[in-house]
Amino acid sequence: MPKQYHIIYRKKDCIGAGACEFAAPELWHYDKEKSIATLKDPLAKKTDEQEELIIDEANLARHLEGAQVCPVSIIEIYDLETGEKIHPKE
Ligand code: SF4
Repeated sequence: MPKQYHIIYRKKDCIGAGACEFAAPELWHYDKEKSIATLKDPLAKKTDEQEELIIDEANLARHLEGAQVCPVSIIEIYDLETGEKIHPKE
């Protein structure tokens, strides 16, 4: 079984910079009217507070690119099996 990762996007803290969509437009949609980003994957679980998504290792590199440009570091990525925080590193 390929490794999997858990993305937790702390949506309520989004400051609307839009950098995630700029870096990874196939993964993120930035809503200019609401000034908030959202995951494009239809499997993402969404509430007003946050969004969550499980991804395979094959998609990790692109998700990391999207997460790393977020100026407020609210796109968190964890190893699903071990719970280790992959991004952001403290
Ligand atoms: S880069 Fe971060 S703050 Fe900017 S829109 Fe994306 S999630 Fe929100």
